[in-house]
Amino acid sequence: MPEAWTLGIESTAHTLSFGLVDPSGTPYPAMSSTVRPDEGGIHPREAADHHKDAAANLLGKLLLQTGISLSEIGAVAFSQGPGLGPCLRIGAALARGISSRLNIPLIGVNHCVAHIEIGRQQCGCQDPILLYVSGGNTQVIAHLDGRYRVLGETLDIGIGNMLDKFARGQGIPFPGGPVIEKRASEWLESNPNPSLVGLELPFAVRGMDLAFSGVMTAAQRLLDNGAELGAVCWSLQEHAFAACVEIAERALAHTGKSELLLGGGVACNTRLREMCTMMATEREATSHAPPRMYCIDNGSMIALLGHIELDHGRTTSLDKSGVDQYLRTDQTPVTWAV
Ligand code: AMP
Ligand code: MG
Repeated sequence: MPEAWTLGIESTAHTLSFGLVDPSGTPYPAMSSTVRPDEGGIHPREAADHHKDAAANLLGKLLLQTGISLSEIGAVAFSQGPGLGPCLRIGAALARGISSRLNIPLIGVNHCVAHIEIGRQQCGCQDPILLYVSGGNTQVIAHLDGRYRVLGETLDIGIGNMLDKFARGQGIPFPGGPVIEKRASEWLESNPNPSLVGLELPFAVRGMDLAFSGVMTAAQRLLDNGAELGAVCWSLQEHAFAACVEIAERALAHTGKSELLLGGGVACNTRLREMCTMMATEREATSHAPPRMYCIDNGSMIALLGHIELDHGRTTSLDKSGVDQYLRTDQTPVTWAV
């Protein structure tokens, strides 16, 4: 087991985040800064500039908050991919700099695997089906033969990007997902017996895969035809989440596993959590969701995976520390989970 603290740097997209795990692998709350464009989506170069400008101050605040000094850090981990190239490169450059300056090991980790490991640790899951629902990714994942295998995924955009884009069309700034959740639950309060009649949307499940862009266009069309925004937010959540829950259920059935674990920013959503619990309960399985601060992108999960990898003897040499925008969940050997 590593004898010092591990620092984790997350910079795959909209958020720069530093996090720490102590020598026993216990994570501490991360210090994060998220770029919030006045209009439009996330521009990779502008997000990277934000990360570069925010870095020194954020790291200082994290050390102050956690009460440790740089000299107590024994390793530094960073998100090596997948993500936006310019953003990933800022995190990698910071990590290389800290590693050389402090003369400590560098560990490049897979961002998707980090979501899984923090969830497993926080929820005490052994061998779950992971429903990973974030901005750029939507995947159903299971561990098999030393890798986390993708059993199903979105064929177009991630569910979070879909929610953000739909919200942006209504003038709601990034991140739109939490606002859609709020509008839906407010509408539900005044419509306690809702009906999907007149609010139907396509249900894009294709075998074990999903698609979201058609749902978004159809939701926009409902608004154009005069439907209330709250009603459409509710319907959009019901349809998009039900599609995810359906493939997660099929994954549980095919693999015979009995734990479902949620991860990624959209896993903050209370309705999605509820739907997963209902499905799991009906099939005598269990559904788990980590604390919300560990669902959204955060440096603590990167530190935790770095700690685990170091514990299993893996570090990253400088010449292998380049980022990989398209790194896949199943490209990373997983030697610690059985
Ligand atoms: P990540 O890429 O994992 O950091 O997650 C960011 C995504 O999560 C964004 O697309 C957000 O809109 C989405 N998100 C965050 N909170 C919620 C929520 N409560 N409901 C739905 N989506 C959410
Ligand atoms: Mg993420």
